[in-house]
Amino acid sequence: MLLQQGHDVTVVDNLSKGHRQNVPAERLRVLDLADTQALASLLREKECDAVIHFAAFIAVGESMREPARYFRNNVCGSLSLLDAMVQANVKHLVFSSTAAVYGNPHTSPISEDFPIQAVNPYGESKVMVERLLGWFDQIHHLTSVPLRYFNASGCDPAGGLGEEHEPETHLIPLVLRAVKTGKPITVFGNDYPTPDGTCIRDYIHVNDLAQAHILALEYLINGGASESFNVGTGTGHSVLEIIRAAEEVTGKKVPYEVGPRREGDPPSLVASSKKLRERLGWAPQYPDLRTIVQHAWNFANRA
Ligand code: UDP
Repeated sequence: MLLQQGHDVTVVDNLSKGHRQNVPAERLRVLDLADTQALASLLREKECDAVIHFAAFIAVGESMREPARYFRNNVCGSLSLLDAMVQANVKHLVFSSTAAVYGNPHTSPISEDFPIQAVNPYGESKVMVERLLGWFDQIHHLTSVPLRYFNASGCDPAGGLGEEHEPETHLIPLVLRAVKTGKPITVFGNDYPTPDGTCIRDYIHVNDLAQAHILALEYLINGGASESFNVGTGTGHSVLEIIRAAEEVTGKKVPYEVGPRREGDPPSLVASSKKLRERLGWAPQYPDLRTIVQHAWNFANRA
């Protein structure tokens, strides 16, 4: 999308989770964020105006078992990147943050001024980086936009790019996998204080999420001050609603069983996207759940 919208792009990835085939070979540099000097050289060589920083571990459950690995990768990696940006005099950063910074909020929808109180090391690692960003702005005038993602989902509508996590932990790809394999998915708890008892999340199409990054980048390059934004649609869907949407899209039954709650899961996380809409002019192109699931299904059935 950046290329389509006239930006020049270099991708840095250590390929620990990313897939080489998803970016043009001539744009990829295989580097680890911990390598501050190599990053600083690259930023100078490419004369970068800004960085979008997505590189992190993302599994809440794993972060509860291996906190050191999460803090090292997510916090120390970000610190190394910020250090490199200061060395290369790059002044703007868009950062992948998360709704997990809000922990278990009491009311909904969630706005950006809700208390920050992560309840797992994954969320806390993002809180720590948001705090680092505040200091780098104050001291080095490096401006940044943390984008607090709700549930990134769906796939590139053209069908070429989609979720490829190993192991997969996300609901929509797992539901679609259950349709294909016939092996039931486990619904993590149906005794939550929600209308059907299953957890409610705000599923945001990955292209709408991507567009928020481009708007944030342009905002910073045009002199905008550091600000955090939620990225969600403002509408929540329960786990059972996702299952029903997948049944409509695929025309097949989703085999599932109800299991215990997953540790650390808040009952409901729904964004207020008012600030993003009003301040950055963002409007989702694919807010409809069926479209999101349809695109994910197209990807699951790609040739
Ligand atoms: N979920 C579930 N079964 C699964 C995977 C997820 O019931 O196999 C539920 C999970 O408890 C949460 C929702 O689906 O309420 C979305 O989970 P996901 O891991 O996709 O995203 P998260 O909300 O953790 O970022």
